[in-house]
Amino acid sequence: EASAEQEASSATAGWWARARRVLPGGVSSPVRSHQAVGGTPVVIERGEGPYVVDVDGRRWLDLVQSYGAVLLGHAHPAVTAALAEAAAKGTTFGATTPGEVQLAEAICARVPGVEQVRLVSSGTEATMSALRLARAVTGRDRVVKFDGCYHGHADALLAGGGSGVATLGLPGSAGVPRAAVAETLVVPYNQVPDLDEQVACVIVEPVAANMGLVPPEPGFLAGLREACDRVGALLVFDEVISGFRLGPGGATASAGVRPDLWCFGKVIGGGLPIGAFAGSRELMGSVAPSGPVYQAGTLSGNPLATAAGLAVLRAVQPADYEALSRRVAALAGELTEVFAAAGVAAQVPVVGPLLSVFFTEQPVRDGAGARAASARRYRRFFHEMARRGVLLPPSPFETWFPGMAHDDAVLGQVLEAVQAAAAVVAEE
Ligand code: PMP
Repeated sequence: EASAEQEASSATAGWWARARRVLPGGVSSPVRSHQAVGGTPVVIERGEGPYVVDVDGRRWLDLVQSYGAVLLGHAHPAVTAALAEAAAKGTTFGATTPGEVQLAEAICARVPGVEQVRLVSSGTEATMSALRLARAVTGRDRVVKFDGCYHGHADALLAGGGSGVATLGLPGSAGVPRAAVAETLVVPYNQVPDLDEQVACVIVEPVAANMGLVPPEPGFLAGLREACDRVGALLVFDEVISGFRLGPGGATASAGVRPDLWCFGKVIGGGLPIGAFAGSRELMGSVAPSGPVYQAGTLSGNPLATAAGLAVLRAVQPADYEALSRRVAALAGELTEVFAAAGVAAQVPVVGPLLSVFFTEQPVRDGAGARAASARRYRRFFHEMARRGVLLPPSPFETWFPGMAHDDAVLGQVLEAVQAAAAVVAEE
């Protein structure tokens, strides 16, 4: 372990001192500050496949992968070559480019039901715009979201809910006016809510991955589809994480339930800023300039982002997703055994290539269950993994993102680290 002096004179410490002066909390997005687990976060110099290298030259096995924006591993040659080629032609024009047409075509070809796509620059913009569209086409204001699901930080979606019961929204952040969430109903995940004719849309992460990983129970998504149809509300799948990560068709294909609108992001930008919302030609026909729902962006459909995203989508085959899912399922099974053998109460949910760890005896099915798991134990576990060179998400409410670069050998290193870390955690 580094001594206090070494720590103080490290490049990491120097960058943190500078970062804290000019960036709120030293970060550009809150979870990166290690609020939930404490300690000094790494400052990253570069990435190489499943690894990142920090500014002090330490190499870490990275299970964050930019919270799911990176699927092929860091600095994959297919992506860096596509970026170099695109950048040499100019980075943004404010006009239609072939890349955005091709990316939209690639999305339509892979996700059953998607006919048109509007590209934006983040997941937040995608969900915010999908909401506006749903409200416009239904002529209704009310939105139903699930406790524990995250849909970016648009005012209307930054609503907190009480545990276990349906609650009309309370502002989920300072600065969100009560009026902005007054029409947002927050309900528990994995329970089909009673809807009425006031509801414009139900927005859901079809695989919840922002409260740790919480799989949809059998019948939940189909139940939402039926409930929406009964009252004429739209169903919106937020596939910002699940899209092009569970498989080419995302959760839509794996669940066999089609929403009316989709939100995408992360993987479709190959690690560059992007988002998209999508739907049938008829629904998307209401988006400006075809229709009355205003939505726009200077950098929307950005040539670098579309080039990187296309490179990723073209590089992965269905068989690659299946192989990755098999590797991760095996790892999750092994982790479950390791924790059990160490006498540590833990749940290791897994869906396709997504997994996470909850320290609790109960399977987690909703936000209340996720919050009931031991955050203190996760904190200890996080640091024991870091001591062994493995970077986990710095919060029990984030999902782990092993990707195509995490082969059997790499996942074997994760397993070894967990074996050692579980033994330490068990002593508490
Ligand atoms: N929806 C989901 C399901 C997400 O996981 C996220 C981000 N983690 C967002 C929306 C918001 O995306 P962004 O951070 O690109 O605004």
